[in-house]
Amino acid sequence: MKSTVIAGADFAKEQGCDFIAALGGGSCMDAAKAIAIMATSDGDYWDYVFGGTGRGKPVEHKPLPVITVTTTAGTGSETDPWAVVTHEENHEKIGYGSDYLFPVLAVVDPELMIFVPPEFTANQGFDALFHSIEGYVSNGVDLMSDMYAITAIENVAKNLAKAVRNGNDPDAREKVAFGNTLSGTVMCVGSCTGQHSPEHEMSAYHQDLPHGAGLIMISKHILHILLTSTYATTGL
Ligand SMILES: [Zn+2]
Repeated sequence: MKSTVIAGADFAKEQGCDFIAALGGGSCMDAAKAIAIMATSDGDYWDYVFGGTGRGKPVEHKPLPVITVTTTAGTGSETDPWAVVTHEENHEKIGYGSDYLFPVLAVVDPELMIFVPPEFTANQGFDALFHSIEGYVSNGVDLMSDMYAITAIENVAKNLAKAVRNGNDPDAREKVAFGNTLSGTVMCVGSCTGQHSPEHEMSAYHQDLPHGAGLIMISKHILHILLTSTYATTGL
């Protein structure tokens, strides 16, 4: 949330921090990136955000370096330069990023994910899956984004149910974490498509809605339309 970002940046300025370390899931890592911007910049975070009521001002000072230690397999935020932050007063949830926000170090250790409860594992895993599915069906694909997306889909699709059934399955946790990290790269060399933007709008209004659960709801309809229009045009 924007208020968390401002509070974190004020604290970093007071303490004279040299870098920001994020230990947690996607919200934590995204907040760390936004804090890294505001720790070296004046004004309000929304001055710099593009889209919505963001004022799109260029960031004039290099953000602090960010280290990410992910405890979940879902957002891919440990490897990408995107920070999705909610403006709680405006009900906006917008992704903002720049090359300066690529984490300088990312730690992906599946052992940190062993205690994630099944429902959270499922929702987070579907987020990772949709980053790659959307990236794969996007018009903005290239050989590299396809390469990452296909491998990510294979690893997450084959192992997510195992990780949900038994969180202490190290092989399943490792493969879902691997697929998640690759999915983060898909968003760097490709792009998401129809599911992610409307889901951000839904969870901006309903902040208790898990991102992955919102994606599942939207995707049931979007994929149905995609599949039926494919059927209509090809007869397959
Ligand atoms: Zn996502």
